[in-house]
Amino acid sequence: MIKAIKVRLYPTKIQEELMFKSASIARFSYNWGLNYLNSYCKENNKTLSIGELRKEFTKLRNDSEYSWLKEVSSEIPQQALKDLGESFKNFFNKQSSYPRFKKKGKCEISFFHLNNKFIVEGNKVKLEKIGYVKMKDEGRLPIGNYKKDKIKVLNPRVKFNGKFWCLSLALEVKDATKEELTNVSIGVDLGIKDLAIVSNIDKPFKNINKSKEVKRLNKKLKRLQRKVSRKYDMLKGESCFKKGEKLTKTQNIIKLEKQIKLVHKRIADIRLNYIHQTTNTIVKTKPCRVVVEDLNVKGLMKNKHLSNAVAEQCFNKFITILEYKCKWNGIEFVKADRFFPSSKMCSCCGTIKKDLRLKDRTYICSNPKCNLVIDRDKNASINLANYKLA
Ligand SMILES: [Zn+2]
Repeated sequence: MIKAIKVRLYPTKIQEELMFKSASIARFSYNWGLNYLNSYCKENNKTLSIGELRKEFTKLRNDSEYSWLKEVSSEIPQQALKDLGESFKNFFNKQSSYPRFKKKGKCEISFFHLNNKFIVEGNKVKLEKIGYVKMKDEGRLPIGNYKKDKIKVLNPRVKFNGKFWCLSLALEVKDATKEELTNVSIGVDLGIKDLAIVSNIDKPFKNINKSKEVKRLNKKLKRLQRKVSRKYDMLKGESCFKKGEKLTKTQNIIKLEKQIKLVHKRIADIRLNYIHQTTNTIVKTKPCRVVVEDLNVKGLMKNKHLSNAVAEQCFNKFITILEYKCKWNGIEFVKADRFFPSSKMCSCCGTIKKDLRLKDRTYICSNPKCNLVIDRDKNASINLANYKLA
């Protein structure tokens, strides 16, 4: 099965310059090739193969006058010439008109990237001669060294749409055979006490932010932040400092801020890693369907008692990653309606308990014929698992 994927990139200034250069060299090469072929045809009354054309281009690239062509990956112009070959093929097959020159400002700003030269780590993708570029939507691209791990991608292109950069490619995914899945529908209830309670897994997935290691790092972070703010206060208190003036950071402040950044990164890595572990475990139970709540994260964040705890859990990231992993395994992924009473409904008889409070950790069914007593979150996860199942 082939899947088309597009991820937004967040290059640094220097990376962006290189990306614009790559795109302009792709355009230059295409136009150079077209011009070369046109004059070759006129002079010799016959055409030249794209293979020959590419050899001519290599000569040009080795010419000292064109040394700037070497600032980007050699694959970029080579692919641009292949693209030109495709344009001619389409012309000869009467599928399109004669190839035209690509005009600056009128053609797409894009360039090709070699198929297997990707390395994906967390939310970064390594592009040849450009380096690690941050991307949105981690979990979309498989993590790994594409050459070593033999991850196959087709036609990867880096594009600029006038505002954003993105990487688009087609990914070969193993055929998700439905036979391998069980016929179980599962529900995933997300929370703050525990990260996730899953209907078919007994143990809850704990809140990683309550672990010793994260607590220790958070303490360290606070200590460093206090230290750095004291240093700033001291700077401002110095007699030579005038109000409104820009502070010159001392070596000490620079060092402390570097440390703070590292601790932040360490915490973020632990959280992300945990999300990957959790979602992997859920997907490995091979359900045919996964149902999650449609969480109103923005709304939850408005509650100042909860906002910190909610932010720490990275619910949106969890849902995004779980969704991609489900899709890759052929598992149906469903977000329950925001008004679905997953917590208030009894998972056994369907009675709605209107007076359920947030602090009630146990669900006790009020229907005298049922009398179900169950963990509140487990109850919600079972309700989600049964969501819209007739
Ligand atoms: Zn009941």
